[in-house]
Amino acid sequence: MVIKVAINGYGTIGKRVADAVDAQDDMEIVGVTKTRPAFGCDLAVRKGYPIYCTYDDSDKIAAFASAGYECHGGLTDLLEVADIVIDCSPGKVGASNLDKYQSAGVKWIFQGGEKHAMTGMSYTSSANHAENLNADGTRVVSCNTTGLSRTLVPLYNHCGKLSVECTMIRRAADPGDSSKGPINAIKPVLKVPSHHGPDVMTVKPEISINSMAVAVPTTIMHVHVIVAQLPDGHGLTTESVIDMWSKQPRIILMDGGETGITTTAEVMEYARDIGRKWGDLHEIFVWRDGVKLEGNTLYYFQAIHQESDVIPENVDAIRALMGTESDWLASVAKTDQSIAKYNNIL
Ligand code: NAD
Repeated sequence: MVIKVAINGYGTIGKRVADAVDAQDDMEIVGVTKTRPAFGCDLAVRKGYPIYCTYDDSDKIAAFASAGYECHGGLTDLLEVADIVIDCSPGKVGASNLDKYQSAGVKWIFQGGEKHAMTGMSYTSSANHAENLNADGTRVVSCNTTGLSRTLVPLYNHCGKLSVECTMIRRAADPGDSSKGPINAIKPVLKVPSHHGPDVMTVKPEISINSMAVAVPTTIMHVHVIVAQLPDGHGLTTESVIDMWSKQPRIILMDGGETGITTTAEVMEYARDIGRKWGDLHEIFVWRDGVKLEGNTLYYFQAIHQESDVIPENVDAIRALMGTESDWLASVAKTDQSIAKYNNIL
């Protein structure tokens, strides 16, 4: 069975998810939506993805032909040919699309900009693939929550108890956003605690976690400063924590002192060397020499490529909802190998 996937919202996340889906042999893109005939349409044309209009209004659909793009119809037409829709519309906009998905009888996946309360179900590959099997819909959690889950879930699984405080040092805007800031200031998120840590509990409620956040004038990555309290008798050392993470998928561990990768700028340069499209880094980057376990307290830093760590998770979430792969590790391996082959990465 080849799963027919629609992408509603072909922006930063949507265009990446489309290619990650296109890389898989068990799913195909049946169409992507654009609100209007803007420059993103050219990319869809080059990729051979059928373009649909976000809206069903005939004048909005006709505008595509006037601009020289073939438009196959509105969102309703796209949903008719899809098994599942990945909603990649801007944060908080997706909620208004839920009724349309339910009426069309397709499965649906929202992104981290939507509230867990709206979907009632959230997803990350490492935390709760099994709980999402055959569900009607879910929400792939945000880039920060995905990053936190990658390192905290294996720690929790080892310890059986975990209490975490973390500070999210957030990029102010994506590279393609010219209207957001700050450009010369550090902006604390004054809602304390921030939503990031508690959001982990939507996929792994057993982890007790709180966070604070600041936005800084950079566009390329987030950095997390994490302090985790492990229970008595955890039996871990700094080296065994590093070893545990090195065996997990989608975590890269490197020694900043040895490699010279000491800032997010070098991490992203390293990502460009890997050769994925857009210079993406699907993995969470942990500085090995920044990990320290003292007694029951574990300290570490990790860097998150906000535009791309959630991309392979969307592919795994499709398999969970469609019930085609129940083993999260098998799905992750298939997803990642297919993307590597697609990007010609040996
Ligand atoms: P984006 O603004 O880059 O892209 C959104 C796209 O959706 C645009 O092409 C826009 O024209 C289109 N759109 C607008 N209204 C729409 C509607 N009603 N229905 C369908 N499409 C519509 O946004 P993005 O950064 O790709 O974010 C998409 C989602 O992914 C949000 O929930 C966001 O919080 C989440 N997310 C973003 C990042 C990131 O770093 N950019 C990381 C993780 C998760």
